[in-house]
Amino acid sequence: MNAAAKFFLPGPVYVREEIKRAMLGPTIGHRSKEMSVLYEKIVGGIARILNTGGRVYLSSSTATGLMEAAIRNVVRKRCLNLICGSFGKLWHDIALSCGKEAVALEVEWGKAIKPEMVEEALSKGDYDAVCVTHNETSTGVMNDLREIAEVVNGRDDVALLVDAVSSMVGTELEVDEWKLDVCFASVQKAWALPPGFAVATVSERALERSKEAVNKGYYLDFMVFEKYHKRSQTLSTASIPHMYALSMQIDDIIEEGLENRFERHRAMADKVRGWAGKHFDLFSEEGFRSPTITCIKNNQGIDVSRFIAKLSEKGYAIANGYGKLKEETFRIAHMGDVTSDDIDELITVLDSTLEELQ
Ligand code: PLP
Repeated sequence: MNAAAKFFLPGPVYVREEIKRAMLGPTIGHRSKEMSVLYEKIVGGIARILNTGGRVYLSSSTATGLMEAAIRNVVRKRCLNLICGSFGKLWHDIALSCGKEAVALEVEWGKAIKPEMVEEALSKGDYDAVCVTHNETSTGVMNDLREIAEVVNGRDDVALLVDAVSSMVGTELEVDEWKLDVCFASVQKAWALPPGFAVATVSERALERSKEAVNKGYYLDFMVFEKYHKRSQTLSTASIPHMYALSMQIDDIIEEGLENRFERHRAMADKVRGWAGKHFDLFSEEGFRSPTITCIKNNQGIDVSRFIAKLSEKGYAIANGYGKLKEETFRIAHMGDVTSDDIDELITVLDSTLEELQ
């Protein structure tokens, strides 16, 4: 791949120069007063952005670490995993590898999980948690989390664990109102920072469950997170450059305004879908199309690898299909700090490159 390419990959995404410069701030002790000030600013800012009065943890891992943490700390015995693509499958694989009795509710990839499916599955089994991918990056489907949450919250003591990796700060996400027990994201998606850091909200119930959980290790133990959180510190030596970047990005997101940010994502998605619809079909189900990533069905039988390579030569990076959809689809992300003008520019190049393939 062209190292200087403009990034429309579904993570890692384009990172602004100001953010990169912010990461060069001074190294400070991870147990110092300065660090606690920075920590408090970041967790306070994230809580404000996610509209939660609950706790926010910071992790110098990617989201996969927090996904495993959610399973280890919160699932007592048996969880229902909602699968509509590769990342739902990841929930399932992690739950099984942690020794949980995981049951998969899987729909055809490209389709969304509907609340009535969750209702039916929950009525048939004794579950203590449901794991869901809000925005399925592999298929470009966004599940209706509000409605799924309503179903789960209608049950007695079923925790809701949410992968919001490619939706957080790109679309509406109401942590408290939807009663999400754990909700996490990596920062290399709509947060638009370099990879290597992740954030999570953790409810009282999740923490209560963690108290009773056994064999959850140390690094991913919410009780250990909580111990340091109370001191305004991270569990271990944090990626300080990421914390500088996150601190700046929080200010910038608040300045842009969340509604404006979401509207920008919706507008970029409309443009990309409009382009895709002219030449191909959209892979994801109508009504559930993601505002942060568009997955395009290669119904014209173009040579996707050649298309992507040609774009790369011109300095533009888009992604092929993910996992089993590698040959069948390709994906264009429109999340983070890319703008509508960037999308216009990309579309011009997509058109000319497509012509060259004929
Ligand atoms: N969940 C979703 C929806 C993702 O898109 C990804 C990565 O693309 C992950 C989980 C895993 O995230 P990470 O690679 O940051 O651990």
